Amino acid sequence: MYDIIIIGAGPAGMTAAIYARRASKSVLVLEALTYGGQIINTPDIENYPVAAHISGFEFATKVYEQAEALGAEFVFEKAVGITDSGTCKKVKTTENEYECKAVIIATGSANRKLGIEGEDGLVGRGVSYCATCDGAFYRGKTVAVAGGGNTALEDALYLADLAEKVYIVHRRDSFRGDETTVNTLKQRSNVEFVYNSNVTKLIADKRLTAIEVTDKLTGETREIPVDGLFVAIGRVPENRGFAQLITLDDAGYISAGEDCLTNVPGIFAAGDGRTKDVRQLVTAASDGAVAATAAVRFVASLE
Ligand code: NAP
Repeated sequence: MYDIIIIGAGPAGMTAAIYARRASKSVLVLEALTYGGQIINTPDIENYPVAAHISGFEFATKVYEQAEALGAEFVFEKAVGITDSGTCKKVKTTENEYECKAVIIATGSANRKLGIEGEDGLVGRGVSYCATCDGAFYRGKTVAVAGGGNTALEDALYLADLAEKVYIVHRRDSFRGDETTVNTLKQRSNVEFVYNSNVTKLIADKRLTAIEVTDKLTGETREIPVDGLFVAIGRVPENRGFAQLITLDDAGYISAGEDCLTNVPGIFAAGDGRTKDVRQLVTAASDGAVAATAAVRFVASLE
């Protein structure tokens, strides 16, 4: 039986592994795909303390190597459920079942995609899901933001300070995000709203060069030349497999505060998959430390 099983080898999960191993607990990290989580797709991280520039892949690899050198065991299997009988928790994967005393769920969330042709291939070549990560690459250029929630509005505001021109493409004519941010954006001379419209095509020549938008009311399409498209149409948490045991909020995130405690004693939530305001690399790592410390205390309470 492991002391702690961590589900998810993103920055939150791997940081938790480092903290738990440094507290001499046996640790198994389960990961469905590869280590690193979402950050692995970011070409250049400029907002994490220590390095002014580091690629997401290099960052993730360094954290992975650090956790592994400390003795965390990594198994690449997808966790599909947890059962709890108090002192023993069982984590079922697609291939096996593992037992432990405490679980940290750090499965993160995925960006909702537009689902249009070429989207995946243009990530890092004009298509981005993170304005704070990638906005600086578009200084003085023309960009579009797709979405109408607070993320899209705040991304647009952030980009309006950097880019020459920002289009906001939203599928309705009113916004889900805060009115004050909308009003601030309306004061900006370099921001243009494209209402009732969806991005329906990505036009590229190695990099993105333009987007096609379709007006939902008239059916008319038009091309807007852009250097970058920031997709901010919400996120999709990856917690469905745990919903029978763990309380999720209306959007599917694990209901857990800054203490990373869930409704089940001995099961903790860390990173983007829990209810939180700031989903950033540094806050994911912070959650990993908080959740691991709580899990270590929980394991000690059983001894
Ligand atoms: P969100 O509030 O769910 O908004 C997603 C937006 O994308 C909506 O405007 C939605 O349109 C649009 N959308 C969804 N699917 C789409 C599709 N397939 N094609 C085109 N458009 C689509 O997501 P979010 O903006 O990422 O925010 C998530 C949560 O974090 C919210 O509760 C938000 O308030 C919060 N947040 C807070 C702050 C802050 O307080 N500073 C900052 C960022 C985020 P419809 O409106 O038509 O549904």
